[in-house]
Amino acid sequence: MLKISNLHASVEDKEILKGINLEIKAGEVHAIMGPNGAGKSTLSSIIAGNETYEVTDGEIVLDGEDLSELAPEERAHKGVFLSFQYPVEIPGVSVTNFIKTAINEKRKANGQTEMPANEMLKMIREKSELLEMDRKFLSRSLNEGFSGGEKKRNEIFQMAMLEPKIAILDETDSGLDIDALRIVANGVNKLKNENNAVLVITHYQRLLDYIIPDFVHVLMDGKIVKTGGADLALELEEKGYDWIKQEQEA
Ligand code: ADP
Ligand code: MG
Ligand code: MG
Repeated sequence: MLKISNLHASVEDKEILKGINLEIKAGEVHAIMGPNGAGKSTLSSIIAGNETYEVTDGEIVLDGEDLSELAPEERAHKGVFLSFQYPVEIPGVSVTNFIKTAINEKRKANGQTEMPANEMLKMIREKSELLEMDRKFLSRSLNEGFSGGEKKRNEIFQMAMLEPKIAILDETDSGLDIDALRIVANGVNKLKNENNAVLVITHYQRLLDYIIPDFVHVLMDGKIVKTGGADLALELEEKGYDWIKQEQEA
């Protein structure tokens, strides 16, 4: 489904990604872990098409199609979802109206007609129930005064509604309390299926107690230096990253 080959990327002439190879198949959950500054967020931004970074070599292919020339919106329309890609507050635009627009834009980009209103309502009802969301939340203004947990909930709701092929959840260092953790994990576990894939980027082994990954990759200094199963996350929790660095140097 998603194949990244020899990906090199720089910002302001500083090389951040130094040859990433990663293949994610439909139905799989992959986790990327690694120390601060390794390039984890850079990798997720680049997959989503963030133009801050210059891709200097390699390619990113989704279902056989090279994404390089596509803008972030076009990638989203093809099924790439990145958490927190649009954390803007939009007063006067509700959570529901925002997602309706996003869905219809995606459908239009894929040559489909707008989703009929009753079908949309049904989908909103089903997904919000699946994620145990309060109905009142759906009519609030997007991100306005949202707590960390509410932002997470909205993000997972967007993911549920947009049904991406590949969902990338970059759980950055800040504020994943136990509540947010549960929201993300439940959401992912309920939404994953044989036709989609999930890439979870996290510092927290804890999250991987709830979302069991098929593969865990360690990203260090712009390269994937080790790949294992779910047990690798436990080993990292216990031993940190230094032993991998030593393995590398040996
Ligand atoms: P991680 O998510 O693994 O903590 P990042 O991808 O955020 O790491 O950052 C990797 C490196 O790239 C860091 O040294 C960071 O300072 C640098 N970096 C990331 N984005 C930018 C940017 N927009 N401008 C300059 N340096 C950046
Ligand atoms: Mg960081
Ligand atoms: Mg990061």
